[in-house]
Amino acid sequence: MSIVVHKYGGTSVGTPEKIKNVAARIKKVRDLGNQVVVIVSAMGHTTDELIALMQKITPEPDPREYDMLISTGEQVSASLLAMALQSINCPAISLTGGQAGVQTEDIYRKARITHVHLERLQKELKTGKVVVITGFQGIDSKGDIITIGRGGSDTSAVAIAAALKADVCEIYTDVDGVYTTDPRIVKEARKLSFITYEEMLELASLGAQVLHLRAVECASIYGITIHLRSSEKEDQGTFIEEAKKMEKKEAVRGIALDENIAKIGVLKVPDKPGIAAKIFTALANEKINVDMIVQSIHSSGSLADMAFSVERPDLKQAVEVAKKVAKELKAENVVADDDVAKVSLVGIGMVSQPGTAAKMFETLSNEKINIQMIATSEIKISCVVKREAGKKAVQILHKAFGLDKVS
Ligand code: ADP
Ligand code: ASP
Ligand code: MG
Repeated sequence: MSIVVHKYGGTSVGTPEKIKNVAARIKKVRDLGNQVVVIVSAMGHTTDELIALMQKITPEPDPREYDMLISTGEQVSASLLAMALQSINCPAISLTGGQAGVQTEDIYRKARITHVHLERLQKELKTGKVVVITGFQGIDSKGDIITIGRGGSDTSAVAIAAALKADVCEIYTDVDGVYTTDPRIVKEARKLSFITYEEMLELASLGAQVLHLRAVECASIYGITIHLRSSEKEDQGTFIEEAKKMEKKEAVRGIALDENIAKIGVLKVPDKPGIAAKIFTALANEKINVDMIVQSIHSSGSLADMAFSVERPDLKQAVEVAKKVAKELKAENVVADDDVAKVSLVGIGMVSQPGTAAKMFETLSNEKINIQMIATSEIKISCVVKREAGKKAVQILHKAFGLDKVS
């Protein structure tokens, strides 16, 4: 008897009809003699609606109450799915994250999962029931409900699969796999039959919303293959796993667009040792994540400009911190710009194929798209451009790198 772990995203359980279809699919798997654990997200846009509702009461809620509220969407879908299974004679039980033993750090809103206590889960599985678990949540050491970050149900599923020592975690969603880029932006985007953990980690961290970053991180640590596939078709989707063929041919495997960033410039800072340390330590102390950093020197040689990017929701706070440090450092000014987007190329083949960056810059310049910032690693190149040029940049790069012909 094997353990099968499925996760269904918001759209896949968005209506009563869809919940019934998911139930029929799960019953088939159970009838083959498998033990089945299912993790669900909230129906459709429920979580966004709960946040909108909250904002009518207060824009700055107590974090504990925020988690109490936004974790409720998953309880609705989990209980409805358990009922749908029971009504087609498939024994089932729904459990909250806490009831299923999902233990988290003591941090509201974005805790990490620290452990999954399996006793209850295994007890229910032994009785032959399908166990449906609310994604996106667990409990902390006080027994409070904690959420693990937007889009986190993917991570709940992989963590539970890892605890159960399942080989594969099947993530069902509204696309039939991971594509060379977001198919909503490029209609010629191609489905990849497999992608390495490393590439998927980069794509997810660079803005591809198809999988939660920490789900990929957890899968790679525990050696779990993620099979991302459509909840409406039977076809195979994309396998996210260890690199198999070491000789890769394409340099670029995927393109991501992140429109959730903003840029800050600290201008005319006296150029001496310790400046960068001061600015970025102050930001780190406030838990603000800084991504790209560019330092440029003025012709006088004694002044420098420092520009960096942050996540858009952190902009206001980051500007306040930067202004404080700028005053201490006697910098001339701090400027902020949220009219930007980041376009990134990803592929482990880049390591051995020079010229990818040059081709990216040339392609953008041919379309008169100005590059404001650049960051590279062995397997990615990111450029910050004006926000309105972001989608266009993805489209022309997708074509230039032949991703519309990938098989
Ligand atoms: P779920 O609700 O099932 O978790 P999400 O909305 O979080 O689903 O993720 C699926 C969406 O991710 C797709 O509808 C697609 O538009 C988007 N997406 C972004 N980048 C990619 C990509 N490279 N491949 C496939 N889908 C992508
Ligand atoms: N429902 C949560 C969200 O919308 C978690 C998830 O869907 O993964 O962020
Ligand atoms: Mg998702």
